[in-house]
Amino acid sequence: MPDGVRKTFKYRLEPASAQERTLEVVLWRCRTLYNVALEQRRRWWARGQGVGATYYQQKRELPDLKAACPEYASIHAHLLQDVILRVERTYQAFFRRVKNGETPKPVGYPRFQGQDRYHSFTFPEYGNGVVLDGAILSLSKIGRIPVRLHRPLEGTPKTVTLSQEADGWYVCFSCADVPTQPLSLTGWETGIDVGLRVFLITAEGKVVENPRYYRTAERELKKAQQRVSKGKKGSTRRRKAVKLLAKKHQHVRRQRTDFHQKTALALVRQYDVLYVEAMQPANLSRRPAPVPDGSGGYLPNGASAKVGLNKSIQDAGWGRFLTILACKAEWAGKRVEAVSPAFTTQDCSGCGERIQKSLSVRTHVCTNCGLVLDRDENAARNIQWAGQALRGVPTLVGAMNREAPSL
Ligand SMILES: [Zn+2]
Repeated sequence: MPDGVRKTFKYRLEPASAQERTLEVVLWRCRTLYNVALEQRRRWWARGQGVGATYYQQKRELPDLKAACPEYASIHAHLLQDVILRVERTYQAFFRRVKNGETPKPVGYPRFQGQDRYHSFTFPEYGNGVVLDGAILSLSKIGRIPVRLHRPLEGTPKTVTLSQEADGWYVCFSCADVPTQPLSLTGWETGIDVGLRVFLITAEGKVVENPRYYRTAERELKKAQQRVSKGKKGSTRRRKAVKLLAKKHQHVRRQRTDFHQKTALALVRQYDVLYVEAMQPANLSRRPAPVPDGSGGYLPNGASAKVGLNKSIQDAGWGRFLTILACKAEWAGKRVEAVSPAFTTQDCSGCGERIQKSLSVRTHVCTNCGLVLDRDENAARNIQWAGQALRGVPTLVGAMNREAPSL
C-alpha cells in the first residue's frame, strides 16, 4: 500500500451555551491579537525594519503580552503562537506579491480582520492543549465539548482548528498518514476542461452538467445581498440580513463541495490519469475581455457578458474542484497532471492548426483538416494531447472517435 495522504476531517461541535461563549471570547481575543500584531508589523515596515526576524520577535513578545494583559493568560499559548504565524504567512504572501511585481489584489497591504472575516483558531499540535477523547473534544482552558462524530477519524491528527460558521461551531482535524484506498486501474486517460454551459467536458465529449441548484442559489444569494445593502448600518434588520446571507453562503458552499466530491470520485473511478489546465491567477478570474470576432472587428463585451459572468463564477469553483480532484486521485492511487493552458481552445485537436475564435463561437471548425467539434471538447482533447506529450505517450489523434467510458 502506498504511503498515506494528508486529509482533513470536519465535525460539528455541540458546545453548551457557556462553552460557546468561551469559544467566542477566545476567537475574539485571537482576532484582537492578530490585528495588534499586524499593526506592529505595519509600524516596523514603515520604519524599514527587517522582515525575517520579526516573526520570532513577535513570538518572543507573547509572554510580555500575557503579563501586561492577564486575560491572555487564560488562552493556551499555542493558539496565540498560531495567530502570530498567521500574521507571518499573510506577510510572506504580501511580500511575494510585491516581489513578483503583481498589483496586490483585491487588497494590497494585509488587512485588519473584522468580526466577519476572522472565524477560526488553531491548535498547531494535536495532543498539546487539545485531544479527542472518544466523542469528546478536550480543550485546555476551554473545556470538554461533545463532537458529532459522523465518521471515524483516520490517520494521525496533526493540527486542530475550531471555526465558527453561520450555524455553529465546527472542528477540523488535519491528519497525516490517512490510508489510501487504491481503485483498480482502467487503462483510460482523458483531458478535462471547464465548459461554458456545462460544468466540465472530457476529451471524449462526455459532459458533466452544472447542478440545477446553481441558478436558484445565485438568485437567492443576490436577494439576500440586496437585503443587507438596503439595511441601515448598525440596525437590527441589517444584522439579521447579514446572518441570513452568511447562512445562504454556507448552504451554497456545502452543496458545491458535495457536487465536487461526487464528480471527482466518478472521474478517478473511470480514469487512471486526468489532464487539466494548470491554474494561473489570470485564469482564476477570466473575464469576457473584448475578443476579435473573426472578421476584423471586436465583439462588444456585453454580447458575452452573461456567459462571461456565469463563467467567472464557475472559474472560481473550478479551482476548488481541481484541489478536490487532486486529493481524491492521490487517495485512489490515480493521477492528475497539469498542462500549460496556452492555445488549448484555439488549436485544432485534429491537426494542430491554430483557429482563432471568440468566446461566443461554440463550435471548433478547422479550415485545415475539416474537423468539426464542440469548442470545449476540442480544448479537452488538446489538454489530453499536451499532457500525454509531456509524458512521452505517442499521439493519439488517430483515436479521436473512440468510444468513451460512461461517467
Ligand atoms: Zn484541423
